[in-house]
Amino acid sequence: MSDLFNQISRRKFIITAGASASAIFLKGCLGNPPEPGGSTSSGSNSGTTAAPVVNISPEQKPETTKVKLGYIPIVESAPLIIAKVKGFFAEYGMTDVELAKQASWGAARDNVEIGSAGGGIDGGQWQMPMPHLITEGLITKGNQKIPMYVLCQLITNGNGIAIANKWAGKGVGLTLDQAKSAITALKSSSTPFTAAQTFPAVNQDFWIRYWLAANGINPDVDVKLLTVPAAQTVANMKTGTMDAFSTGDPWPYRIVKDKIGFLAVLTAEMWKDHPEEYFAMRGDWVDKHPKATKALLKGIIKAQQWLDNFDNRKEASEILAGRNYFNLPADILIEPFQGNYDMGERKVNDKSLAAYYWKDTKGSVSYPYKSHDLWFITESVRWGFLPKDYIENGAAKAKALIDQVNKENIWKEAAQEMGIAAADIPTATSRGVEEFFDGVKFDPEKPEEYLKSLKIKKVAI
Ligand code: CA
Repeated sequence: MSDLFNQISRRKFIITAGASASAIFLKGCLGNPPEPGGSTSSGSNSGTTAAPVVNISPEQKPETTKVKLGYIPIVESAPLIIAKVKGFFAEYGMTDVELAKQASWGAARDNVEIGSAGGGIDGGQWQMPMPHLITEGLITKGNQKIPMYVLCQLITNGNGIAIANKWAGKGVGLTLDQAKSAITALKSSSTPFTAAQTFPAVNQDFWIRYWLAANGINPDVDVKLLTVPAAQTVANMKTGTMDAFSTGDPWPYRIVKDKIGFLAVLTAEMWKDHPEEYFAMRGDWVDKHPKATKALLKGIIKAQQWLDNFDNRKEASEILAGRNYFNLPADILIEPFQGNYDMGERKVNDKSLAAYYWKDTKGSVSYPYKSHDLWFITESVRWGFLPKDYIENGAAKAKALIDQVNKENIWKEAAQEMGIAAADIPTATSRGVEEFFDGVKFDPEKPEEYLKSLKIKKVAI
């Protein structure tokens, strides 16, 4: 089953693993923001916070106070960092949460394979569908199947596609009507349009592929698409050998601030309130510590609610920007956190396009909708990362995998135990039909129809 996936992607993953093992890439790799003055190689934060433990009933008392969670220093990780720093984990009895900065997505994958007992991590922040791919043994060493549980979504919006300055003034934006012929004309030259993401076959790869394909450009044929450590990407963008890359804030915004390039598009413009990154843990940890898992979720939910109060976003920017976390000037974060983006060629001033953590215009951000897992699996089939049998026959195989990985029931229990209003607890596991900027619709009841409707795809369906 995994042969196809391996042929297409395993080599890329090996490149990722090799890069993360090499000291030269330790600074700011794979989705991490640049860290002008600091180190990214360790960055573990242990120690307790001052907040008192609230009254926890004996039935809800966590089995352990200790856990090690991985994060990547982009705004997606904010609920984990805020829950620790503001004492929200501790309030629910998780007084020994260690947050471990990961040098790359490949490093996070390697660390969850060994777990905290082996010096790694028990879970943390993930692009999608990494938890499903790890569960299936598709991106692990020796294809070992390591069950993972998706427990909540961390964030929506907050990502973008950055473009090198040499494309300034050439019509590279949400649509590419003017630029398309210039991009595709380079196809058979020695310098094809080169776009990068920080880990293959997950969100940032999907966003750049969706954007190109919606504009009539085949990402597998018309351009060169690579997995590149972010530090190398910026160097390449500066020297003009890299045309585009896709990642989370503060990375894209920083490209504009440092005058390396401009922002063509925010992911929120492509698919408003789209699913982005998730909190997931090793299944064996959750099975052994069901109450501690819910305590972690309660701390994260409280942090997500705190983050969605825009009055808190200056303080949030200062906490995240701190030396122990992102290690950059706080003002890089403050403006995008308000929905103010200097895109370089245009300005976006729209609060509804900012990052949200708890609620967005479509409902819950935190609740992990199974219909969103299904979109990531369907998009994986679209580009040949997963075989099409996941989606055939009513997507039975995809749904079985999602039922195994997505633990929305645990989210609901945690939300109920902490007194979240019933109106804020979704009753359906599907958010319903989703619509993209090009008018394409994804009906989670008919993923095969979605694939058939797409003009540009790798799968024959
Ligand atoms: Ca992201």
